[in-house]
Amino acid sequence: MKGLSHELRGVALITLKGKQMEKKEENKRQPNLGRTRRPRRPQRYNNNVSTLGSVNNVIGADTDALADETANAEEIQNAEGNANRNNSQNTEVNANRNNSQSTDGNANRKNQNSNRNNNQNTDRNNNQNTDRNRRNASRNKNQNTNLNINQASVQNTGSGMGTGPVAVRVNQNERGGRGNSPKLRIIPLGGLNEIGKNMTVIEYENDIIVIDCGLGFPDEDMLGIDLVIPDITYLENNRDKVRAILLTHGHEDHIGALPYVLRSINPPVYGTKLTLGIIKNKLEEFTMPWEPNFNVVNAGDVVKLGCFSVEFIRVNHSIADACALAITTPRGLIIHSGDFKLDTTPYEGEMMDITRLGELGKRGVLMLMCESTNAERPGYTPSERKVGKSLEYIFTVNNDKRIVIATFSSNVHRVQQIIDISARYGRKVAITGRSMLNIVSAAVELGYMNMPAGVLIDINDIRRYNPEQLTLITTGSQGEPMSALYRMAYSDHNQVTLGAKDLVVLSSSAIPGNEKLVGRVINELCKNGVKVLHDSSMEVHVSGHACQEELKLFQALVKPKYFMPVHGEYRHLYANRELALSLGMDSADIFIGEIGKVLEIDKKGAKFAETVPAGKVLVDGDSVGDIGNIVLRDRKHLAEDGLLVVVASVDMEDKVLLSGPDIVSRGFVYVRESDELMTEAREIAVNTLIAGINGKGKLDRVALKGKVRDEVSKFLYQKTKRKPMVLPIIMYV
Ligand SMILES: [Zn+2]
Ligand SMILES: [Zn+2]
Repeated sequence: MKGLSHELRGVALITLKGKQMEKKEENKRQPNLGRTRRPRRPQRYNNNVSTLGSVNNVIGADTDALADETANAEEIQNAEGNANRNNSQNTEVNANRNNSQSTDGNANRKNQNSNRNNNQNTDRNNNQNTDRNRRNASRNKNQNTNLNINQASVQNTGSGMGTGPVAVRVNQNERGGRGNSPKLRIIPLGGLNEIGKNMTVIEYENDIIVIDCGLGFPDEDMLGIDLVIPDITYLENNRDKVRAILLTHGHEDHIGALPYVLRSINPPVYGTKLTLGIIKNKLEEFTMPWEPNFNVVNAGDVVKLGCFSVEFIRVNHSIADACALAITTPRGLIIHSGDFKLDTTPYEGEMMDITRLGELGKRGVLMLMCESTNAERPGYTPSERKVGKSLEYIFTVNNDKRIVIATFSSNVHRVQQIIDISARYGRKVAITGRSMLNIVSAAVELGYMNMPAGVLIDINDIRRYNPEQLTLITTGSQGEPMSALYRMAYSDHNQVTLGAKDLVVLSSSAIPGNEKLVGRVINELCKNGVKVLHDSSMEVHVSGHACQEELKLFQALVKPKYFMPVHGEYRHLYANRELALSLGMDSADIFIGEIGKVLEIDKKGAKFAETVPAGKVLVDGDSVGDIGNIVLRDRKHLAEDGLLVVVASVDMEDKVLLSGPDIVSRGFVYVRESDELMTEAREIAVNTLIAGINGKGKLDRVALKGKVRDEVSKFLYQKTKRKPMVLPIIMYV
């Protein structure tokens, strides 16, 4: 049965999701396999840092909450998975992960794998050696320049949560010139040549800080995958150097991977109050092996982290409390824009702190990493207030209808505007959808939203009011199946049934890839006689990202020596580069990076160096990272061509076919209408089996299985020009 295991694993994984609930229970009983020790926390001084209070759900329970949850795969407590990952790291320097990934052929990973062993181990050794040598030098004058494996593992076990022993000998001479001129290293682990999954590593000698920790969404060919998170092997391998994770704002593409990443490394996390409030709410749905270390900062605060100090700078964005970061490093100042736009008339809060950016620009900026989402769009992004004006108009002309508005739950100012306008027009507001409730409750609790008294009602109470007295604020602006709006459209929402008395406003734009989903929901709403307004028909949404003029303004204020466009597909990065060129930057000073590709800056200048592991870690239900391209290929194969299982049992002693072969088919042909084909396939299987059993010499089970598969596949292809997955299961008695 050995050869079966891989196919069966593929099939078994598909059923995993259904077992999610059981798994959760199981894991509660066996928590925290593997790494148990908390990481050492370096002593440091924090300016104005306070601890975040708990965020309680201040809004009444939503009976739809559970259904919404299925739309996001969130619970990933997988004790087994953790143990495996630990093992592979503790034993063979990631040999396991390397293998599985290189067979997988994931383009990103594959390219980087070859580098992984070479560069990374040398790297790791270099870093560790520097440290180790310092310590050794003081106690051992006859120090051996060749550090061996044992020493390495002793050092490692002493240093926290078990960075794997490094099974590579490195001669000190190989350290090259690194010691002479320490380099500042910028390593994007996500967010380049892709939308989402933003994560950037800044490293200088023994200190690492990480900017953002976001998730991405699966491509169309990643069947059954719920989420994509960055590969953090590099951080795991350098865990003792990681001083902090810094969050620019609370969007999923910046914080969404945190619940997964914090399972494996647990450095202090810094972010503004709302950002940490959102992530804290989210973490309640996960079982964490340890208490995360959250530190609240305000715009203007400076945090000292190893050799770095980081200043948070106010920017405008489609979520409140967003910041850019100014990072003072021993090589100079790095500015990371985060996501931003310039809103000179924000609905609440302050304008982006362009004064501070200008000051820093005057002082001299070594590197600007600037977001590129709207770099192809000319002009300025309109102010959030513009949406308010459109909504106000919509409320006046639809004073006989119930108004249902779907928007991004994280757009706290948008939700606030909708509530304020509703209050002005004498409407009650009910909120539905899990993430909307989560974020609104966090925002109210933390003082980012204020509820006019008596406006908010429970969704269960809406039938007490006439349609024209109500506004509903809902999730589902991306047409996500199972979201509240989707269920309303398909008449599957417990409290809301839509009809001719309703107006639905999609106060959002479809994220690329979601257009079809959104279109489907709009069609369904129209079928029910519902009036629908969306982005293209009314100005009911503005972007949260800077257009060309704002990007140029940012760059002009900061005046960096080097420039690296971030956040976007290649075309966006390229467009941002063009903007920098138009401002007079030298093309040699602009670096379009790739994830995993290290940019090194030293006294001599900046240049790309080696590549570190980076790529996509796939999350499917409970399992994180164990689904590679083999499983995906199988899923695709099954989805496109179906499955045919051949079951037989064989008596080894008497060399006879005891039972079968029976043929079971799924997704290939409708068996009842394909009698003849199935009979013939069965005959082929019988003949192959009998020939195999009666062959000379010892019976080779693997070969026999392969032969049955090949013969049946060949026959089916001849007859149907299709290639279903053929899975022989032969039992030997
Ligand atoms: Zn954002
Ligand atoms: Zn973003």
